[in-house]
Amino acid sequence: MTAPAAQAVRRRVTVHGTVQGVGFRPYVHRLATDLTLTGFVSNTAYGVLIEVEGAPEDVARFCERLAVETPPLATVTGTGVEDMPATGSGDAFTIRSTEHSPGRTLLPPDTATCADCLHELADPADRRHRHPFITCTHCGPRFTIATAMPYDRAVTTMTDFPLCPACAREYGDPGDRRFHAQPVACADCGPRLRLVPAPGSGIRPARDDDALTAARALLAAGRIVAVKGLGGYHLACDATDARAVEELRARKARGGKPFAVMCADLAGVRRIADVSDAERTALTSPRRPIVLLRPRSSNLAAGVCPGSPHLGVMLPYTPVHTLLLGLPGDSPGPRVLVMTSGNRSGEPIVTDDEEALTRLAGLADAWLAHDRAIASPCDDSLLRVRADGTEQVLRRSRGYAPSPLRLPVTLRPALAVGGDLKNALCVGEGDLAWFGPHIGDMGDLSTLEAARRAEQHMRSLTCVDPELVAADRHPGYQSSRWARQRALQLPRTTPLFVQHHHAHIASAMAGHGLDGATPVIGIAFDGTGYGDDGTVWGGEILIADYTGYRRFAHLTPAPLPGGDAGVANPCRLALARLWSAGLPWNADLPSVRACTDTELSVLQRQLTRGLACVATSSMGRLFDAVSSLTGVCHRAGYEAQAALELEAAAGAAWGADSAAYSFATGPLGCDPAPVLGALVADLRRGTPAEVMAARFHRGVARAVLEICRCARQATGLATVALSGGVFANALLEQECTHLLAGDGFTILRHGEVPPNDGGLALGQLVVAAHERQKE
Ligand SMILES: [Zn+2]
Ligand SMILES: [Zn+2]
Repeated sequence: MTAPAAQAVRRRVTVHGTVQGVGFRPYVHRLATDLTLTGFVSNTAYGVLIEVEGAPEDVARFCERLAVETPPLATVTGTGVEDMPATGSGDAFTIRSTEHSPGRTLLPPDTATCADCLHELADPADRRHRHPFITCTHCGPRFTIATAMPYDRAVTTMTDFPLCPACAREYGDPGDRRFHAQPVACADCGPRLRLVPAPGSGIRPARDDDALTAARALLAAGRIVAVKGLGGYHLACDATDARAVEELRARKARGGKPFAVMCADLAGVRRIADVSDAERTALTSPRRPIVLLRPRSSNLAAGVCPGSPHLGVMLPYTPVHTLLLGLPGDSPGPRVLVMTSGNRSGEPIVTDDEEALTRLAGLADAWLAHDRAIASPCDDSLLRVRADGTEQVLRRSRGYAPSPLRLPVTLRPALAVGGDLKNALCVGEGDLAWFGPHIGDMGDLSTLEAARRAEQHMRSLTCVDPELVAADRHPGYQSSRWARQRALQLPRTTPLFVQHHHAHIASAMAGHGLDGATPVIGIAFDGTGYGDDGTVWGGEILIADYTGYRRFAHLTPAPLPGGDAGVANPCRLALARLWSAGLPWNADLPSVRACTDTELSVLQRQLTRGLACVATSSMGRLFDAVSSLTGVCHRAGYEAQAALELEAAAGAAWGADSAAYSFATGPLGCDPAPVLGALVADLRRGTPAEVMAARFHRGVARAVLEICRCARQATGLATVALSGGVFANALLEQECTHLLAGDGFTILRHGEVPPNDGGLALGQLVVAAHERQKE
């Protein structure tokens, strides 16, 4: 029964957050209609505007339910409610078209195919049976197809595909799961798959389902196929085919760096790796990241992740992946695929179809491509799950971008460009910050170009118009030079340069919602960062807040002979550490045996004369040196290989040995000389490498505890932030947390913001904003 008009009340509700492109308006429509309310819902530039009119108790119930029931992909960041005079007009609740006015809406990230769409994909009776681009309001591409905001089909790369009558009907029906689902399409009107063979390969081109069948047959035959996904191309091969895996490794010139794999289903993941409940949750979440798991012995080719303690695994997240791995009843094909970013080592991921054909020439035997363009590149995200079930994101990209982070402080519009390694930028305004997708290492012009495009894309999606540009203090960084140029091009904009490890600690603080009123004890351990004294820092204990920092203590520096060349050769780092600790290079030491005679004499000369040597307090480099000293890894084929293998070795002896090597810690620093002495003595006793690796990890954690105690005594502070790429080491992070918590410290560990340089931009953003306030 409709309430008499005299009693009717009207209320205006505004909803902010990720509420467009997620089925919010049809949900509001159903809710209002259920409660027999009249009024309307509309998308606006800042979110969703609703006006409801009806009996007071029904209007009240509407507001209550709106606050707790939302569609799966929606995130509400704020609401406003305002009483209005009842109009008595209208006899239904309607969905109005988008109102275009200035403001800001939030775009959802790309989301894995939902259960309903997967069901239809496999249903022969459904009109989208085997349609490789099936999607609905609850799933599919968003960030990677949007070119501007407010989010509407006309500003996505789906604008090239006019809807057929059947799709148009679904798109226009508020009761349909595809109501205003911008990427909606079908076989009649949507994008199409094609298989493009490499010239001279003898492979025949194919389209649509034939392209998929051909691609599956090629993979089954041990060939390498470039597969266009959501945010770029992957290179795929059968992960159980040792020859195919070796071939891909050789073509990509990838050294021993582990490959990620994609399994058809969870049962398949369990056959190749151990999966905890929390890891299962992460694997199957709509974000579908790559999750680092402990590999089991299986039929996976040994060349997938040689020597690594982790295996990166993900589940299919697009219909193309699902079809590529086979629906029930399909001819047998690979059920586990190597899925590695489609690029040459060091280059950004390939997104453009023409570019894919040229840049991946020689890498792929065929291309499984389609004609839906990618508006923004977006690599797979990567995370690990801790023993306590919490997540540590190591690469925050697909499935996260462009979800904002809520900040504990208020920012003027700002851009932070990150660093030169694992580059990702961040824009911020008010209490929100948005990370762009992972760009990669800024080695060449193509990465710089990718970063420029990412900045434009992020600015057009967030409408942030920077008044401030923040970058790393390293004078030689490409990213810092770019920031300087950028600042010149933008009106009223000045660049600010933030010390690397200060930015790490600030990113940990901001990630935990600290307002910065109280400083923290910041442990910033990483591979490299420009220090204020011009040397390479990386074993830093800072007392820091957003406005500044003090270098409380640091790892005793050692010379880094030959710069980058030294980093690839942990045996040289080991000898440099022995040299600075005053320990002889006896011929029986594994690191000495690993060096050639020429290397030894060059190194000797460099160290005694200080030639081509820069001092470094890097903890990452100490892990590399110890990896060689224990005989685990003398030459690194990829970044962090020596440290990863050292962690794997330590894990093998963790339960069996609880001794620790002692650093000489004091108010000035943390000297590893006694550790090296004890290690050499252990070597002489024939101690297994695994035991020495475990003793080293425990030793570092105990040194952290001792220095934190000193810092607490000196400052009264008891909150410790653990940041920097070294804390991707699960064993070290776990042991530090255990010791610090046992001693009454509060610990800030990284969660959604990466501890490595991928999280740097957030710290730069917050520090730069405070720098401006001081002026
Ligand atoms: Zn769906
Ligand atoms: Zn259609």
